[in-house]
Amino acid sequence: MSLPNPEELVAWDHAYLWHPFTQMQEWLEQPPLIIERGDGPYLIDVHGRRYLDGVSSLWCNVHGHRHPKLDAALRDQLDRIAHTTLLGLAGSPSIVLAKRLVELLPPNLTRVFYSDAGATAVEIALKLAFQYWQLRGETRRTHFASLTEAYHGDTLGAVSVGYSEAFHRHYKPLLFDCHKINPPHVYRWERQVDPEAALGAAIGDAEELFELHGHEIAALIIEPLMQGAAGMWVQPVEYVRALREITRRHGVLLICDEVATGFGRTGTMFAIEQAKIEPDLMCVGKGITGGYLPLAATFASNEIFEAFLGPYAELKAFFHGHTYTGNALACAVANSNLDVFVEERVLANVVQRSRQLTERLARDFAPLPHVGDIRQVGLMAGIELVADRRSRRTYPSAERIGMKVILEARQHGVILRPLGNVLILMPPLCIRADELDRLCNVAAAAIKTVTGA
Ligand code: PMP
Repeated sequence: MSLPNPEELVAWDHAYLWHPFTQMQEWLEQPPLIIERGDGPYLIDVHGRRYLDGVSSLWCNVHGHRHPKLDAALRDQLDRIAHTTLLGLAGSPSIVLAKRLVELLPPNLTRVFYSDAGATAVEIALKLAFQYWQLRGETRRTHFASLTEAYHGDTLGAVSVGYSEAFHRHYKPLLFDCHKINPPHVYRWERQVDPEAALGAAIGDAEELFELHGHEIAALIIEPLMQGAAGMWVQPVEYVRALREITRRHGVLLICDEVATGFGRTGTMFAIEQAKIEPDLMCVGKGITGGYLPLAATFASNEIFEAFLGPYAELKAFFHGHTYTGNALACAVANSNLDVFVEERVLANVVQRSRQLTERLARDFAPLPHVGDIRQVGLMAGIELVADRRSRRTYPSAERIGMKVILEARQHGVILRPLGNVLILMPPLCIRADELDRLCNVAAAAIKTVTGA
């Protein structure tokens, strides 16, 4: 088959694809931007145009596209085998990776359960937490708790503990109930209280919930330090620490969802390092393969692991597994991803570039009249655009202000993706100072053009 030309690709995309999180009626009105190649932090379309990948291909790219080490690891593994099952067999790349991951984790997390998406890593954590209490005989612990506006993925369990009215309202009857607690930002932003009072109120909220319902809750799930898809909402480390202490006091498991924050994004390998806590379960995905292949993992404490042990006939095993669990190609690239973190001193670059980003956000974005708030942890930043800064009046969602800004940035060679009215800046961790400057220049100019500031 000869390679289709760009016009054919547009026609076939419009004829055959259904894109995620996309109003297809709107999509079909415009030819899509079709990416053909990558080069470091750049994406190159079918016409040869280069774009800076300002959101790391949906928050997962780490060392850039077509990194020679990662490419070589993939080719090398291809020469052995692409995939074999972990059900009843083991495979070398997944064994080596599990050992290396555990060595990076707090000492209580000793087991790795692989899957292939952030959402599946979350489903697994929820099921492990639930079954753990059943096996331990605490059969009343059948509920979960999570943060207001949490996002943990799009499968039904993940939606139940997350929930966004816009995304998920049609599935409400399918979801299980989940207790919600308000993180500090809810108070700070909506009620306009100072950060310290907001922290106190949020901790008070958690205390109250666990006082009342702690005995029937299996686990609390959180995105530590930064709630990403909610619109980049930051929590102080004290909040994360307080939640660990409160859950422990009430015998509730703590699940940390580091699908977005994991693998260097916040300046440390994992966000929990900054809070200095040990969760009972932890979920990772996205950056685990440097953004190359679909792989995810759920880490479990030894205590949880041991509860599942027993003679076969007791049927205590964790009856869960996906066909591509522990895929050899993905695990081989993930091993190489960890090497590159060390060899290229990636975390040091994240710390430097994060400082640069903080300075640029304060200098070039904060003064803009329609920038209502700026929230950043490491190389994760959200810039909230508002119709009126003083009253914090938002733009109507029908105005698609975020979408207009990213389309303007695209004209200037930068790919972004907004979350509603929040512009996200989340470049690959390998980004250089001059590239980050360009990203900021284009994003600030696009905001000015679109908001008429
Ligand atoms: N958890 C968090 C914190 C996320 O940000 C995401 C995706 N943005 C997910 C889970 C779901 O991951 P996936 O899209 O790989 O299913």
